[in-house]
Amino acid sequence: MTQIKQPAFRFAYLGSGSKGNAALIQSNGTCVMLDCGFSARETASRLTRLDIEGKQITAIVLTHEHSDHISGAGVVARHYQIPIWTTAGTYRVIKQRMGDVPQVNIFDPHKNFEINDLMLQPFPVPHDAREPAQFVFTNGHHRLGILTDTGCSTPHIEAILSGCDALVMECNHDLEMLMNGSYPESLKLRVSGNQGHLDNETASELVSKLETSNLQHIVAAHLSEKNNESCLAKEALSDAVECTPEWVAIADQETGLSWREIS
Ligand SMILES: [Zn+2]
Ligand SMILES: [Zn+2]
Repeated sequence: MTQIKQPAFRFAYLGSGSKGNAALIQSNGTCVMLDCGFSARETASRLTRLDIEGKQITAIVLTHEHSDHISGAGVVARHYQIPIWTTAGTYRVIKQRMGDVPQVNIFDPHKNFEINDLMLQPFPVPHDAREPAQFVFTNGHHRLGILTDTGCSTPHIEAILSGCDALVMECNHDLEMLMNGSYPESLKLRVSGNQGHLDNETASELVSKLETSNLQHIVAAHLSEKNNESCLAKEALSDAVECTPEWVAIADQETGLSWREIS
């Protein structure tokens, strides 16, 4: 007897960090690329690593206008004829830099929308960008929450991320390493400010407030190469969900994260 297979719901990272971010979220034949911050050539070689061809990508969703999230978007969208989804505020600032693309769809960061088999639940985040959004992705059965590029948490963020089956959480820096490090004072303040990036401790506090009993995967992302160590991020998140540090995965700058299935 053939068994009815649950639709495969999985995610992976081409890479994550200040030199480039891109993730893939796939359900059945729908494959969304979240951010496109690598050059076209780099994107292609990283897609090959994940066994995906550019033409399989259904949509590119852009979270905000910082170059580590959009630098490849125009070229990649034109090359593979992929539609772009972004907020009106982000689109206004990237329009010229991105150039002509096959299709642009604007979403409201307070309204859910669908891209074929995936439902996207965007939510606004405090970050120094025009209209930044982060997401919960669902296939109707399971939820994947992704939060990077946020300076702090909000009750709205905590409500939305609660009860996810998989979480990707920004662990940008260790506050002490940042403050004792080589960044100029103004950059230290920007990164650690309420519209900057989450440090390990704040990420841990946020996760500890969430309902995590369904959690199958927890991934630390957007780690600073200068101001963090993967062991510190793993420790912080494992404290919050009371698991061993080894269970926490890292989406890093060079190798990204291989496919993780949510079932
Ligand atoms: Zn970023
Ligand atoms: Zn950013």
